[in-house]
Amino acid sequence: MSETESQQKRTPGGGVHCATPWEQWDREFLWHPFTPMKPWCEEKEIVVIERGEREFLIDTRGRRYIDGVSSLWCNVHGHCVPELDEAVRGQLGKIAHTTLLGLTNPPAAELAKRLIEMARAEGVRMDRVFYSDDGSTAVEVSCKMAYQYWRNVGASPGKRERFIALAGAYHGDTVGAVSVGGIPAFHQAFRGLCFAADFVPAPERMDHGAASLSRLEGLLAAAADDYAAVIVEPLIQGAGGMLFHPEGFLRQVRELAARRNVLLIADEVMTGFGRTGKMLACAHEGVTPDLLCLSKGLTAGYMPLGATLATRKIFDAFYADPREGKTFFHGHTFTGHPLACAVAIASLDLFEKNRVLEHARHLEPVLAECISEARGRAFVMDARCRGLVGAIDLAENVADGWKRFPSHWRVGGELCLRMRDSGLMMRPLADTLVIMPPLAIREENLRRLCRGVIESLGWIGEIVARKKREESR
Ligand code: PMP
Repeated sequence: MSETESQQKRTPGGGVHCATPWEQWDREFLWHPFTPMKPWCEEKEIVVIERGEREFLIDTRGRRYIDGVSSLWCNVHGHCVPELDEAVRGQLGKIAHTTLLGLTNPPAAELAKRLIEMARAEGVRMDRVFYSDDGSTAVEVSCKMAYQYWRNVGASPGKRERFIALAGAYHGDTVGAVSVGGIPAFHQAFRGLCFAADFVPAPERMDHGAASLSRLEGLLAAAADDYAAVIVEPLIQGAGGMLFHPEGFLRQVRELAARRNVLLIADEVMTGFGRTGKMLACAHEGVTPDLLCLSKGLTAGYMPLGATLATRKIFDAFYADPREGKTFFHGHTFTGHPLACAVAIASLDLFEKNRVLEHARHLEPVLAECISEARGRAFVMDARCRGLVGAIDLAENVADGWKRFPSHWRVGGELCLRMRDSGLMMRPLADTLVIMPPLAIREENLRRLCRGVIESLGWIGEIVARKKREESR
């Protein structure tokens, strides 16, 4: 065996032909998030995205794909948007980074003002902005703030230390965010690392969330002073499978928490910035949480940035002489990063200039039409949409009802992989297809995306038959 051949054998995926050096380096040096690395390294081709243009992603071979999931639910105005690019360049001409510890910078201060104004314009009465790096850290900050809030206002030792979250919740991957995560496949392995949380069932549309609310009410009635906060993804639980909450659920959670004097954290990392038709999902139900987490669309998907918005009540509990020991000792090197804040301000300007919410509202019927077409198709257990979030649950209709496909069949994954040949870049949540393009997508491209998804439903029969044949061998 030659030296090259033996080297290839030792390298994961080393025998696979790589069309570009980036594919080679990726197979050899990268470890991908949420990815079983063995099949990844053995995959025939790894798509290398090199450029973007509005709602398109363009790979190193020049193939163009509609970004059907907004680059993991964060892109708003598209890629390579001149105004956003200019905002970064303009800030680069001044300074790329300076710390927010002991100093401030113009974009961080201006964005804080703009975010508070944006929230208040929606009827969500927040008062202060605390920056961090991404969605997980925005949640992490909110949990630590809630926890310390109770220490600062004099909670008894051992009290106000637990959290309440929803089954199927996803709030990120840092340990605090995992503690309030309710997806066994992602979170179970780390339970031993986590702080205490109790989970209530995700609300069912069928009973309007009654079982979920009554469990929440039960926990709070039994021991409200055990709990620091209830945390929810308002209106839609994202990574849990795009679970839509019944109308009024969030408002009722707000009322229950307030009645028992437990804080409410709204994780708007996914729902924020127009995804559900308003700038904030909380605005649909007239809810002001105690803490509100933002990321993803905050910078229109351009840069990592997290923000935790707090009400005056929370802030005031920390507003004290340093000797009182009430300071919030938390902060990241890149907190309030000027480049990220500058692009976030430019994004807020674009929301107004391009009337993005109006545009997205105009597109909603196109997505709704696709969803209702999907509902009648074979292997579609449920299909739903809200704002510019579409979800199609795939399963098999057997004699005694709907049965999910075995997860290792990866039916959703295979459909999405095959959709690439039609120029669509999709990523499912297990066997739930997700349609979540940038809000600024042009109507004809949303129609193309929808047509591609409907067409893909026709491939399921053949995939299922093949899987069954393979398993019976
Ligand atoms: N909260 C929610 C609701 C999310 O959907 C996500 C990410 N999908 C996060 C938090 C974590 O954000 P990040 O991946 O930026 O850490």
